[in-house]
Amino acid sequence: MKLDLKGLLIVISGPSGVGKGTVRSALFNMSGHDLVYSISMTTRKPREGEVNGREYYFVSKEEFQKYIQEDKMLEYAEFVNNYYGTPRDKVMELLEQGKEVVLEIEVQGAEIVREKMPEAIFIFIAPPSMQDLYKRLLSRGTEPQEVIAERVQKAQREIKLAYLYDYIVVNDTVENAADKIMAIIRAEHAKVERTIHQYKEMLEVK
Ligand code: 5GP
Repeated sequence: MKLDLKGLLIVISGPSGVGKGTVRSALFNMSGHDLVYSISMTTRKPREGEVNGREYYFVSKEEFQKYIQEDKMLEYAEFVNNYYGTPRDKVMELLEQGKEVVLEIEVQGAEIVREKMPEAIFIFIAPPSMQDLYKRLLSRGTEPQEVIAERVQKAQREIKLAYLYDYIVVNDTVENAADKIMAIIRAEHAKVERTIHQYKEMLEVK
């Protein structure tokens, strides 16, 4: 991706239970943006209330593997015994249209995106504390105890990788976290290397 590609790719990660989904909803509900969410594909079963094509494209392992073989994934990763991935074509199409495309993915996938598209913005959402994260996972009540334990361990490993990101946003309150992400996106838009080509003539030293 060149910096003068019209759109902006925003990668958001964070341990499960940190409230990424809620922060994302708050972000998308804010006015004055051109954000589009990239719907991932997963082999995980839908949770109650989740709809195919809205939260995820829910597919079988075979379908997912076919996507990988046909090189249609921008990135993918295995996470707690399921596959998750970002279909590439849609993301590229949206970026070409000048959209701000948001990926909400785990850290291995984010590392792959960093290699392929280093100009993307990488934001890590962190919990205020580990206790807070554990409480949130328990109160969600959607997973059995052993899956929660596995997710907590995974969360500890993920938080250790936060240094690979450009920004860390603590989810103390959803509004604060969404505000901070919006501020980051706006600041990124104003970066010289993203905007200078538009003003080259005007700024050229004679
Ligand atoms: P969950 O099962 O809680 O919906 O998601 C588990 C983890 O997978 C979360 O950290 C979520 O951000 C991540 N995830 C969701 N979609 C993708 C994707 O397309 N690629 C990767 N690498 N991770 C994803």
